[in-house]
Amino acid sequence: MSSLSRKPPAEVRRQLRREVGFGCPAPGCGNPYLEYHHFDPEWHVKPHHNPAGMVALCATHHAKADAWTIEQCRALKGTTLDRSVAGKFEWMRREVIGIIGGNYFHETPDMIVFGSAKLVWFERDEDGYLLLSLNMLSISGQPRTKLRANDWLIEGDPIDVESPPNGSRLRVRYENGDEVDIRFKQWETPESVQKEHPRILDIEDVSFPVVTAEVKMIAAGTDYQFDSKKSQMG
Ligand SMILES: [Zn+2]
Repeated sequence: MSSLSRKPPAEVRRQLRREVGFGCPAPGCGNPYLEYHHFDPEWHVKPHHNPAGMVALCATHHAKADAWTIEQCRALKGTTLDRSVAGKFEWMRREVIGIIGGNYFHETPDMIVFGSAKLVWFERDEDGYLLLSLNMLSISGQPRTKLRANDWLIEGDPIDVESPPNGSRLRVRYENGDEVDIRFKQWETPESVQKEHPRILDIEDVSFPVVTAEVKMIAAGTDYQFDSKKSQMG
């Protein structure tokens, strides 16, 4: 019996995501919500986390992966998309609390504004659902990840993209230190937020369950940095 956890170590997951260009390498797929398939040897034959015998796949292709030979799996490892990786947050609520830079935004559409440019904002669709948009701040001169009304698009050349299959988080990091990390979470009761975000309980008219959208953003080489606890602007 092995006590090895089925979840690969963080550095192995990062390497596997990166070698497929952050999208499922199955022909015609490109789904950015990745899992990790063990093929050489298969997990049930011998538990291991040797990246040479593993490949990142979407949940659909992971479930079908037994159809592929070792050689076919190995060939997929070097396959990257010829287009940008894109995805979508499925979270749609009429009430969402934004948590950015230590501030809690409730009924505040334009959460972070830089000069006259919006950096992080909500807009309502025709059904009244709040959708999140975001521009990364960067002095790199390179394209950066964009979020528009819950749809995200990876641009530039990130060193890592984390986008787990549950679709609640997107974290993108670039070589120069630029980073964005967006997480949606539903809190069932006032007691559940008490420990992590007690200030939500001070907001008037919050009804549970409540959804939060937490945004962390770093613009490398500048003083601009927002995480859940503090914000710094110049
Ligand atoms: Zn796939």
